[in-house]
Amino acid sequence: MSQSFATRKLRLDETAGHIPTGVWMRTELPGVFAAGDIRRDSVAQAIACAGDGATAAIAAHRYLEERFRSSKPGQPVVG
Ligand SMILES: Cc1cc2nc3c(=O)[nH]c(=O)nc-3n(C[C@H](O)[C@H](O)[C@H](O)COP(=O)(O)OP(=O)(O)OC[C@H]3O[C@@H](n4cnc5c(N)ncnc54)[C@H](O)[C@@H]3O)c2cc1C
Repeated sequence: MSQSFATRKLRLDETAGHIPTGVWMRTELPGVFAAGDIRRDSVAQAIACAGDGATAAIAAHRYLEERFRSSKPGQPVVG
């Protein structure tokens, strides 16, 4: 995630400026996920950051599926 986007749109933790996330890398903004060193509680090791990224990708896919499940092609999505 771009740091400038993060600092403008998301609440960062007071001490280190990291983004709080849940285990599915969700941030407090719906549809926005954070992975890697920028995430609070990251162990800041390359392999763990790659795992975060994979988790975030799966979570984002699920988010989009749930959000757009009921919409038909060509129709605007409400809500
Ligand atoms: C000196 C050093 C040695 C390390 N050695 C090891 C090691 O031996 N083993 C290990 O597992 N880990 C090591 N690490 C940690 C590992 O490098 C990090 O945990 C990992 O790179 C984090 O990946 P990331 O994708 O979260 O962040 P990053 O690799 O920092 O990637 C973030 C990217 O976002 C870009 N970016 C930032 N802001 C913006 C913006 N506004 N717009 C566009 N792009 C932006 C940055 O330029 C960067 O390319 C080391 C780290 C350092 C500093």
